[in-house]
Amino acid sequence: MSTPSAITAALKEHARDLGFDLVGVAPALTPLTLPKFEEWVEAGYAGEMQYIERRRDAYAHPRHVLPVVKSVVMLGMCYDPGHTTDDQTDEAASVGQIARYARGSRDYHDVIRDSLKQLAAQLHELQPGSRTRAVVDTAPLLERDFARQSGLGWFGKNTLLINKSLGSYLFLAALLTDVELVADEPHETSHCGTCTRCLQACPTEAFVEPGVLDARRCIAYLTIELRDQSIPEDLRPGMQDWLFGCDVCQEVCPWNRKAPLPTTKEFVGLPDQPDAIAFLSMTTAEFKVRFRGTPLERTGRDALARNAAIVVGNSGRKELSTHLMQGATDDSPIVREASVWALARLIGREALGFLQERRNAEQDSQVLRQLNVCLQRLQEGTTPAVDPV
Ligand code: SF4
Ligand code: SF4
Repeated sequence: MSTPSAITAALKEHARDLGFDLVGVAPALTPLTLPKFEEWVEAGYAGEMQYIERRRDAYAHPRHVLPVVKSVVMLGMCYDPGHTTDDQTDEAASVGQIARYARGSRDYHDVIRDSLKQLAAQLHELQPGSRTRAVVDTAPLLERDFARQSGLGWFGKNTLLINKSLGSYLFLAALLTDVELVADEPHETSHCGTCTRCLQACPTEAFVEPGVLDARRCIAYLTIELRDQSIPEDLRPGMQDWLFGCDVCQEVCPWNRKAPLPTTKEFVGLPDQPDAIAFLSMTTAEFKVRFRGTPLERTGRDALARNAAIVVGNSGRKELSTHLMQGATDDSPIVREASVWALARLIGREALGFLQERRNAEQDSQVLRQLNVCLQRLQEGTTPAVDPV
């Protein structure tokens, strides 16, 4: 019969063969950061992510994900750190950028779930009759906590897990099992030192303190999770050119200077990333065809077109104003509302005639409110100056 250490060693080898860059084992215990997590939810920092509040109690122990769990196998897979895709972007023509994790050809949930299924099958061979459950973002599990417990890295001041060799451009996943595996030593030390680059660089000042993020201010939350509503106006200029997600607090992190390229081909950034104009002129049907099976699919066309309008408004590129005029007549009120705001920001008083026409035609109360605010500001000359990014 195989010993726990033999099964653990064989499982780790299989994980590496399947393309996981990191693998470690943590015991199935209450996460150490649970009290901090509860404080964070209590403070309202999760914003509209109600699924977190709904499942709040379940985060207290991995047995709520797999009742018989004894071990948590934590896995990390690198995604593209952007060294290639950034070089290939034609900055003169393109406006807006997509977070690095989403620049590959397939949604990481699907890719990693496939690999986890294979890893689970191998564990079943090593230990017949064993129980497993694969987790990629989908279950109430504090993955970063277990990643640290299994020795994969530490929590940076930007809240992300950082590995000394690989940095933080990593997808995390877990395989829960009732097999007693040999746990790794937790990563007890932090290697941020006196650095505060991420805290200072955040364009929307989303860090309440080192290691505590108010998701409601984070561009990743605003552009991805906040789907059916308008983005708070005071945070729009800080979105700069981010269409989907944000990498700023990772870009500035010294631990990412040597982040490696991904070995999983689906995570290599594609050279032809969509830009803001593409989203503004795309129908929902076209969006579904183009982004099926990618991380952008879940966020949807309307939210992406809304983000795109804001990005064009922030761009300082007046020649793009016709796209915002098109956006101001879009079927989606959140796209119209953002386009109106962006047009006033981009071309100022030149937008007056167009916005007055739109006010006569508009029926939606939110869009009308924005039209009235913009018209009043333009007439008073109080529109904030465009701050090109
Ligand atoms: S992802 Fe962007 S907006 Fe969010 S905390 Fe990091 S730097 Fe700030
Ligand atoms: S930028 Fe500095 S403080 Fe922030 S996570 Fe990286 S090392 Fe830590």
